[in-house]
Amino acid sequence: MEYAMLPLAFACVILAGFEVLARLVVPVMGNVLTRTMQDKSRRSVPVQSSHHDKFDAVDWLCITFSRCITVPFVYHLLVYCCVSPCVLWPGGAGGNNDNFPQNMPAALFTADGFVDANAAIVEFLAENVIAGNATKVVTAGATKTAWDANLGKTTSAIVHYAVSVILMYVTYDFFYYWFHRTLHLRSLYKFVHKHHHRQHAPTRGNLDAINVHPFEFICGEYNHLLAVSLVGNGMRAAGLGGVPIGAILTFVVLGGALASLNHTRFNVRFGAFSRLYSFAHPKKGGATPAYEVAAHDVHHRLPTKNYGQYLMIYDMMFGSYERLVDKTSSSKSM
Ligand SMILES: [Zn+2]
Ligand SMILES: [Zn+2]
Repeated sequence: MEYAMLPLAFACVILAGFEVLARLVVPVMGNVLTRTMQDKSRRSVPVQSSHHDKFDAVDWLCITFSRCITVPFVYHLLVYCCVSPCVLWPGGAGGNNDNFPQNMPAALFTADGFVDANAAIVEFLAENVIAGNATKVVTAGATKTAWDANLGKTTSAIVHYAVSVILMYVTYDFFYYWFHRTLHLRSLYKFVHKHHHRQHAPTRGNLDAINVHPFEFICGEYNHLLAVSLVGNGMRAAGLGGVPIGAILTFVVLGGALASLNHTRFNVRFGAFSRLYSFAHPKKGGATPAYEVAAHDVHHRLPTKNYGQYLMIYDMMFGSYERLVDKTSSSKSM
């Protein structure tokens, strides 16, 4: 009973965080990231199709469902992070470590012999993360550990973090690509994904992004958990321990921002794979970013192109990639 208020407080924090991300982080990110682009003409995605102006009751029902489902999703992700040995926490602990479940305190088990997830989260965060970090800070101060001695450790931690984030997006989008492409099969399209394609020129960011059929939203959210689990287990099997909790946080929060940005006119892009594409498709010319808001805009106009959510690498690989051709300016510039 001591955790009775926890679900309500948890839900409020997640829903509030979701709104901050949607209303503040996404527009700020869009503005800041596009302002650094030298070519001003490519800072925004031109509107080339009709805009779904007014939401009806079905739209709002879908949007409300999507918001609500975020709460259990984050909860399940948190449970996974607290009990999985494939997730690395700052205190040096990996989930409930290899102790799970044999050496976990008896208080964390219910009468039926199952682990009480709420109790496990609270116990883990309090004992391993908060207390663990406090001890670490005190110890570090007492022994005056030099920065130089930690430099190698810090560098490898940053590389581990960055590789984890990239691998999670690459893994996520592999499953998302085929899931999305399947939803576009003629026999299935009208049952699920057609709703999202009411919008031919998304502008509302998060609202247009989460305006999807509930089945699609649930699969999309839990695909993040699948990616975390696969990359975590892979890294653990490779002797790297697992995925850092910071990388998971980045993957999920930045992912939410990027999926929302995909439905704005800020043409944010990251170009890590551009050379790869221009090498593979020399006749199509020009560099092409791995992530580009314009690419998803093309998908809303040409539904059999650009199925990826975050990355266009699978579209490039499996032949469904289509770059934006701006009809309002010279197409040669693209
Ligand atoms: Zn979309
Ligand atoms: Zn689609």
